[in-house]
Amino acid sequence: MNTLNVTNSWDSKIYSGGWITSEGGSAAVVEPATGQVLAHIGIGSAEDVNQAVQTARQAQLGWAHMPFDQRATIMREAARLIRERAVEFNVWNIRQCGSISAKADWELNATCEQILMAAALPMQPDGLLFPSSMPGRTNLSRQVPIGVIGVITPWNFPLLLAMRSVAPALALGNAVVLKPDQQSAICGGALIAQAFEDAGLPSGVLHVIPGGPETGDALVKHPDVGMISFTGSTAVGRAIGQTCGYLLKKVALELGGNNAIIVLDDADVDAASSSGAWGAFLHQGQICMQTGRHLVHHSVASQYAEKLAARAEKLFVGDPNTEQVHLGPLINRKQCDRIHAIVQETLRAGAQALTGATHEGLFYRPTVLTGVTPDMPAFHEELFGPVAPITIFHNDDEAVELVNRSAYGLCAAIHTRNISRGVTLSQRLNTGMIHINDQTVNNEFHVPFGGMGSSGNGGRFGGPANVHEFTQSQWLSIMEKPIIYPF
Ligand code: NAD
Repeated sequence: MNTLNVTNSWDSKIYSGGWITSEGGSAAVVEPATGQVLAHIGIGSAEDVNQAVQTARQAQLGWAHMPFDQRATIMREAARLIRERAVEFNVWNIRQCGSISAKADWELNATCEQILMAAALPMQPDGLLFPSSMPGRTNLSRQVPIGVIGVITPWNFPLLLAMRSVAPALALGNAVVLKPDQQSAICGGALIAQAFEDAGLPSGVLHVIPGGPETGDALVKHPDVGMISFTGSTAVGRAIGQTCGYLLKKVALELGGNNAIIVLDDADVDAASSSGAWGAFLHQGQICMQTGRHLVHHSVASQYAEKLAARAEKLFVGDPNTEQVHLGPLINRKQCDRIHAIVQETLRAGAQALTGATHEGLFYRPTVLTGVTPDMPAFHEELFGPVAPITIFHNDDEAVELVNRSAYGLCAAIHTRNISRGVTLSQRLNTGMIHINDQTVNNEFHVPFGGMGSSGNGGRFGGPANVHEFTQSQWLSIMEKPIIYPF
């Protein structure tokens, strides 16, 4: 059992030039496993967002001019402090977000790695030298900060998904206004602000303004925000993209997924079922990369289904704060009702539940469905819950067609003993990430991450991709002597 210290500077506050009482009031932080109110967090109004953006705009100039190695020192200190405060971060991740402790721990370590990687970014080459047809001219193309970047994040991996934008944006000389989801605003917002403040980040460079759609909307529409980095659902991302398009604002959209694992006839079926279970049930399936469609060759389908159901039945579901469990609660009632409706409708349409399909409160049993066809909701909707629908295919062409039938294109996985067959198949899949002999939930921070189709707008996070994502290009030409033109 983890106890909480709630006598914190962030209690009922937002972080904007220090901890302040917001105009938008405050909201209760509720533990999904118990329904208990754990604390209160400040909520930002449109005016709070406006104040934050104005302050950030001023602070950004000084921050961008600070020598990059000094900025890097602050970033590294923030990573050190987050690691030092791991217990506090993890307790909030477990209690506020329903994470099991292994997930919270992984997320914290991954976050620190991301910050350290970001700290090194400004030491990379940041421009190109081009020849010129004009004698005596030097052409430089260099990357410069965007200014104020708005970051909007979801609740499922609140620390990591905030930091994969906040860290590179800051390291490259931008100021940031972070709007975390209200449901995860402590570990994905307040504690981040506290760490950066204690690391010596100059006041005004980072703001944390929790809130819901209205707070996010104010950030998206603010004329002095030069870029929005959004991670969340496709529906909201599409609306944000539309607004940013009209405002001619840079926008990075990392959106939903309906990711498939393909199990070919020559696969190691036991290993494939292990991938299937991990990809479908990790963090209650509440991961954009969740393995939400299990496409299995008819010759191994019943074997795969039995093995997957056996793995699902061994999993413990309960309160991760008080028990050793594999799955914690779903984040809220709305998500639970949505997932259960998809499962029930799929069963009514003719699928069978080998295991699960039941829940107690927000605790949803890992569920394996067979006989799922493309017209059923469990096939064509993003699940974002611990459900593994199995669909049969008869040949490689049909498998490819089934994967590409989804408008989403985040990731896919292929299980086969024939690597060249797997690689050939991968070339036909419309997804941003493909893993052979693995499952769909993968993230290595130095490798560009992102989706195709309705899973994003083509941007990528990670490693070299970050430099171009969080800066803009500027052409500088230098003439040795002024040109004298005809008039
Ligand atoms: P969501 O889109 O409802 O909310 C995400 C964030 O957007 C929250 O902070 C929310 O407050 C804010 N928001 C909501 N409406 C807004 C509006 N009109 N204007 C501005 N901001 C607004 O998503 P969710 O349900 O919290 O998260 C789950 C979704 O996120 C799933 O679809 C999942 O696949 C996706 N996701 C994608 C990735 C990725 O990297 N591709 C990672 C994690 C989650």
